[in-house]
Amino acid sequence: MTRLLIMGPPGAGKGTQAELVAKRFAVPAISTGDIFRSNIADETDLGRQVKGYLDSGRYVPDELTNEVVRDRLTRADVAEGFLLDGYPRTLAQVDFLDKVLAEQGHEIDHVIVLNVDVDEVVKRLHERALKEGRDDDTPETIRKRQELYLEQTAPLIAVYRERGLVFEVDGLGTVDDVQQRVADAIEQPPQPH
Ligand code: ADP
Repeated sequence: MTRLLIMGPPGAGKGTQAELVAKRFAVPAISTGDIFRSNIADETDLGRQVKGYLDSGRYVPDELTNEVVRDRLTRADVAEGFLLDGYPRTLAQVDFLDKVLAEQGHEIDHVIVLNVDVDEVVKRLHERALKEGRDDDTPETIRKRQELYLEQTAPLIAVYRERGLVFEVDGLGTVDDVQQRVADAIEQPPQPH
């Protein structure tokens, strides 16, 4: 039973932690952002449809994003579990994910929320922009993505908290420190109330 979500503002280190969790718990880490970026790089139809959204830091429409996730969650490698990174990001995506999982008789069991303050994440994203040159790490899109996160995605935490699934983890510290906290959280039973 390892069906996990990792949430937190852009720049909180979700991707890095997601990869480590995936290794440790032997489940695939699924990042909608990575799926979009690889489709853009490969110039697929999907890539062409989503490029403008990523370039400007806006959310890809739910219909497109949901279909990508549905596809991914029907593959054999997720039978024993998965970690979703960067999805769901809207209430419509939460509903969709519930529905897709319910069709398979499954549900999410832990939602890891990485807490990092805004100044720190903005600093990290600027550093990443210099190092990795990700196209959407410009000052304008960074601001836009933070805004969207606060407006549209942070409220989802309350939905999962109601279900007793939220485990908040301090995202400050070394990668290993944070990883240990994340792993400890995943090993705790969910607390439905
Ligand atoms: P970050 O968390 O740093 O913004 P991601 O790699 O998770 O980076 O996402 C990059 C971009 O991909 C987002 O700005 C958005 O345009 C798009 N995206 C990723 N996941 C979703 C999603 N669940 N819903 C809508 N758009 C998404």
